Amino acid sequence: MPTIKNVGVIGSGQMGGGIAQVAATAGLNTTVFDTSADAIARCQATHDKLLARAVEKERMTADEAKATKARLSYVTDFNALSGSDIAIEAVVEDSAVKAKVFAALDELLTADQILATNTSSISITEIAAATKRPERVIGMHFFYPVPVMKLVEVINGLATDKDVTQRVIDLAESMGKTALPANDRAGFVSNRVLMPMINEAFYAWMEGVAQPEHIDGIMKLGCNFPMGPLRLADFIGLDTCAHIMDVLAEGLNNDRYRPCPLLRQLVTAGRLGDKTGRGVFDHARA
Ligand code: NAD
Repeated sequence: MPTIKNVGVIGSGQMGGGIAQVAATAGLNTTVFDTSADAIARCQATHDKLLARAVEKERMTADEAKATKARLSYVTDFNALSGSDIAIEAVVEDSAVKAKVFAALDELLTADQILATNTSSISITEIAAATKRPERVIGMHFFYPVPVMKLVEVINGLATDKDVTQRVIDLAESMGKTALPANDRAGFVSNRVLMPMINEAFYAWMEGVAQPEHIDGIMKLGCNFPMGPLRLADFIGLDTCAHIMDVLAEGLNNDRYRPCPLLRQLVTAGRLGDKTGRGVFDHARA
């Protein structure tokens, strides 16, 4: 199988923009597609700024930055993705939207091209069912912020070919990441282990075991975590945490994964974390 040279990224938001930046920096021709012209323009402006800063800080030469820019195309025409050896989808976390995107990619791309999804909670097998090539559909789960975080969790759907898994692992490593495989069960590995711990921290707070800053301090100092679970929940978004707990409860058919009532209550109150200025902690700037 030829190595991957051309990458298509679908969705130019927080994750898609980061994935495209890392791919182009690693020498891959990268086409970023979004349905929103504003989002594409924002993505390009962010890349330009980050590349200029990398040159300023001498992490990259001006020639390297210019070559990286030349490898990036920003498009709102879906057909421009047709030359991609792999399409990496990073659109909103909505099964119906993803199913539509995968059905359209399946029509556009030739049978040997790979379709990957960056979903954090939707079943790869379910997404693959929207295509006629489930054996070429795989999860490629990057972490935020993509240029900084080393891991790509590579998730095999029920039908994913071993050859596709290997090519995606090789691709992730060529992008400077460490790729680790997992199978398609709710939450994969990362969220299956992380989210119940965060949820438990909310229970500990709700039951008065300790105050949030003490829960976080105990976990930081006692377990050597760089960030406490409640601070991390604010960073991820409390709505996202509650949603992923619901996915675990449904997918693993076990109520012990239900979101803590206090977590739900904060979401209902609009206290979603960093993005709303207040979650567990107050992040509002004076
Ligand atoms: P985001 O909201 O920042 O970006 C989503 C982008 O998708 C937007 O620019 C939107 O215009 C675009 N979009 C919507 N519908 C589209 C379509 N049909 N075709 C093309 N583009 C479309 O979201 P994000 O945080 O980048 O998340 C993207 C995916 O990555 C989600 O599946 C999410 O679960 C997953 N993910 C997110 C994180 C994170 O920390 N943010 C981490 C890992 C995985």
